[in-house]
Amino acid sequence: MNGPDADFIIIGSGPAGVSAAFPLIAAGRRVLMLDAGNDVGSRDESRSVRVLGGDLESLRADDGSSPKLQTPVSRGILERFQGESGIGGVGFMPIGSLARGGLSNIWGAQISYLDADDIANWPIDIASLQKSYERISERIGISRNADFKRSAEGESVLPLGATAAYVLHRHRVAKPANGSFRLFPAVNAILSESRPGRAACDLGSDCLYGCPNGAIYNSRQDLLSLRKSPHFRLLDNMRAVSLTHNPGWTVRTADGSSFFAPRIILAAGVLGTAALLADHLPIEEQGLRLLNSPTLAIPLLSPQRLLRSSTPTHSLAQLGLSLRYGDGISDYVTGAIYEVGSLPAQNFINRMPLGRNAGRAAFERIAGSLLVATIYYPGDQSRSYIHRDAAAEKSLTIHGGFAEGFDILAEALKRALRREWKRLGLIPLPGSSLAEPGVDAHFAGTLPMGASGPFGTSADGELNFHRGLHIVDGSIIPDLSSKYITMTIMANADRIAHRLAETEAKPAS
Ligand SMILES: Cc1cc2nc3c(=O)[nH]c(=O)nc-3n(C[C@H](O)[C@H](O)[C@H](O)COP(=O)(O)OP(=O)(O)OC[C@H]3O[C@@H](n4cnc5c(N)ncnc54)[C@H](O)[C@@H]3O)c2cc1C
Repeated sequence: MNGPDADFIIIGSGPAGVSAAFPLIAAGRRVLMLDAGNDVGSRDESRSVRVLGGDLESLRADDGSSPKLQTPVSRGILERFQGESGIGGVGFMPIGSLARGGLSNIWGAQISYLDADDIANWPIDIASLQKSYERISERIGISRNADFKRSAEGESVLPLGATAAYVLHRHRVAKPANGSFRLFPAVNAILSESRPGRAACDLGSDCLYGCPNGAIYNSRQDLLSLRKSPHFRLLDNMRAVSLTHNPGWTVRTADGSSFFAPRIILAAGVLGTAALLADHLPIEEQGLRLLNSPTLAIPLLSPQRLLRSSTPTHSLAQLGLSLRYGDGISDYVTGAIYEVGSLPAQNFINRMPLGRNAGRAAFERIAGSLLVATIYYPGDQSRSYIHRDAAAEKSLTIHGGFAEGFDILAEALKRALRREWKRLGLIPLPGSSLAEPGVDAHFAGTLPMGASGPFGTSADGELNFHRGLHIVDGSIIPDLSSKYITMTIMANADRIAHRLAETEAKPAS
């Protein structure tokens, strides 16, 4: 019998997969990474092709979803996942990726760090997670500097647009009485100082479509450095379709190839990992609980900024916000306030009861005063389950829903927010909308760390009863606060890989 192809096979080259790969190769372990995709898009394409598509398909396809999900790159990633992953949705939009770099090709790069309260129910200590946050921050570059302690709340990061800066100023001079509402410059994984191979953000304003200069972190950038290591190998166009324990693990791919290693690390994203494990889990009866963040979008108008010209600025999250609505540890919402001036005008003009030219003129006059707040609720407000679906064309179906009483909570929150909008001089416009579950793409908790039984994993992400099968993506995060999740997925993957590097398959000296 031939020897193993590597000490570890990692499935998935998104943020989780690359974060697991670095510590392993640094410790001299041989890593084979398989990814279903290859490169998406091309840096050589003109801006209009990147934004609107070769034959303006983005404009025609405006279906009311977030502008970010309508770009050619987003559509290429999401439609392929919806077509080939074997996962369908009922009242749930299954967002996942089958592209090299995963969803980091289209993420908003807003960063959050969890604290000791947030991880009170996890079987790990906060110090180990913090160490991993620091390592990841150094590697990927966070706003002005790479040191997350210095880019904490309060310090300005990338320059704010004029309207966002005005709103932040109002917040600072008229603080809320009880301190439950916080507004702060968002922290993003976007470079404000250039690094080798990546230019700093130049406020070019079309970063909604990915940054041609590489200022926004994308895990494809990490693949370039990983590939310099003799211990690392990446194989593209390798969609894993089955895992067999023999002992050790054999991975079979859609093209008929197979690969063998003593340990396997799943980093296919929460939905991708669920699809790969469906044959190993007894999910028929109760379904697999999936935590996702219910998401609300609220358009806002700043009358004081009306008729001022919009300033060119980067179009990703500019102001971060959080609002506490209860006494529980996770009873808060988190979100972002975006300036609309840098979003695609067409999305707004299409919705105006005016002709195209009149709509454009009207939009240009008011764009500088418009904002959109996007609010994320914690995962305990979701009720989404993954079921096996032998009868349907898809092998798994996700049924999406909200926790009982969520509608009452949502109304109470809107009321609380209305007080804050008033204090900030903002008028909420009609048209606020609750997104279909899944659109948030903040997923966790299908196979939580510390849980017993067939659906639980150890603190090292090892699936119970499946020795050598480790999971490092959001699947094993036991609870989902409303904070942005990707930084924590990366830190947790780094933490697990360090532990595996210390204990498993030491290279011969
Ligand atoms: C529009 C949008 C905006 C977002 N904005 C933010 C934000 O501002 N902040 C934040 O924290 N998070 C954000 N997110 C979420 C963030 O993108 C995800 O949390 C993150 O990408 C998850 O990383 P991952 O590595 O676990 O999975 P993914 O990024 O999904 O990567 C999975 C990888 O596995 C591969 N794969 C899947 N199945 C297989 C298979 N069977 N065989 C081989 N390879 C496979 C895929 O090709 C992919 O490379 C956003 C997501 C979206 C869609």
